[in-house]
Amino acid sequence: MIHAVYPGSFDPITYGHLDIIQRGVKIFDKVTVAVLINPNKNPLFTVEERIELIRQATKHIPQVEIDSFSGLLVDYMKKKNANTIIKGLRAVSDFEYELQMASINRKLDPNIETFFMMTNNKYSFLSSSIVKEVARHHGCVSDLVPPCVEEALIKKYAGYKVTF
Ligand code: ADP
Repeated sequence: MIHAVYPGSFDPITYGHLDIIQRGVKIFDKVTVAVLINPNKNPLFTVEERIELIRQATKHIPQVEIDSFSGLLVDYMKKKNANTIIKGLRAVSDFEYELQMASINRKLDPNIETFFMMTNNKYSFLSSSIVKEVARHHGCVSDLVPPCVEEALIKKYAGYKVTF
């Protein structure tokens, strides 16, 4: 049984993330989507909100587990008894950072393998930040995120006025 962990901020989950999860469960027996609690970042959604949105967006995929973690990913992997990390790659710009992360994780724990999945072309431009930027200006994000996320974004930015 291969248990893989898909870590990230997921602030919020997008169709790009969901595509990686859906393809991931075809390869691995179980995929844990692990929301990183990073006190240095200023997220739009709380960890609980992000987990709830992932839960709603993945409720049709039984092999998915959702969790959160802080600290070193390798320590979390050990705790979960998992040795495969899934990462999505959008562009060359993702590659350099991800290579660095995969290398340090392998140094910290040689048993851990990072598995890279190329983005689906139609989502190669998609990031949580771009989605937030569009939603903040009341643009349409229905092709970019699941309906529950779209609804949550509309609520978050309801009182936000665009000024030019
Ligand atoms: P971001 O805020 O840039 O969307 P996250 O930290 O939430 O990033 O991303 C978690 C993981 O999902 C990372 O491995 C990232 O490369 C991957 N990912 C994010 N968006 C996409 C996408 N559109 N296609 C493929 N992988 C993606």
